[in-house]
Amino acid sequence: MKIKSADFVMSNSKVESCPKEPLPEYAFIGRSNVGKSSLINMLTQRKNLAKTSGRPGKTQLINHFKINGNWFLVDLPGYGYARVSKKAKKTFQKYITDYFRRRRQLVCAFVLIDIRHEPQKIDLEFMQWLGENMIPFCIVFTKADKLKPAVVATKVDQYQNALLQDVWEEVPSSFVTSSTKGTGRDELLSYISELNRQ
Ligand code: GDP
Repeated sequence: MKIKSADFVMSNSKVESCPKEPLPEYAFIGRSNVGKSSLINMLTQRKNLAKTSGRPGKTQLINHFKINGNWFLVDLPGYGYARVSKKAKKTFQKYITDYFRRRRQLVCAFVLIDIRHEPQKIDLEFMQWLGENMIPFCIVFTKADKLKPAVVATKVDQYQNALLQDVWEEVPSSFVTSSTKGTGRDELLSYISELNRQ
């Protein structure tokens, strides 16, 4: 897919206020600092479409971007950051769960995982929740340039094993990406293109 246009549409904290246009939508989510903004900028080939983080957990809104005039890329807030109050965490959780449960246009969620890290409870629990709520998702491993290719393969295997132990019968599709090198861009965009055609 060629990216001909990528425009910021709006930021919201409530799913009811999100764009009404019934376009297919793809959501990007992960722990703060996972490389989500960099990935969105890499995919869209825009330097500053998504703001790369100064302070983790700063962007706590649902951000809609319209791509090529025919689908939405949604930048969801990063989870798992330490420096916010319990109350803020609860509010955040509510609007994210509301978003996933109620956003009919959502075609697929991309859960970002830093390839260098061991499987983390918070990510596994989040994926389990998506599964239980029948929300289709894929895993996007980020920062692959930081490891040697053989280590990347081992890490992907490790992650899949962790999911299999965690009651999954089948592991979700995954993509290996690097925003600095552009790795995985074609694969991710082709995947979205394919889903848009269905
Ligand atoms: P966000 O908080 O998830 O939006 O993460 P950012 O996109 O702001 O990235 C967090 C940090 O990781 C920044 O210092 C980025 O430069 C770095 N980073 C993000 N993606 C990559 C990548 O693919 N490779 C490398 N080497 N660094 C990355």
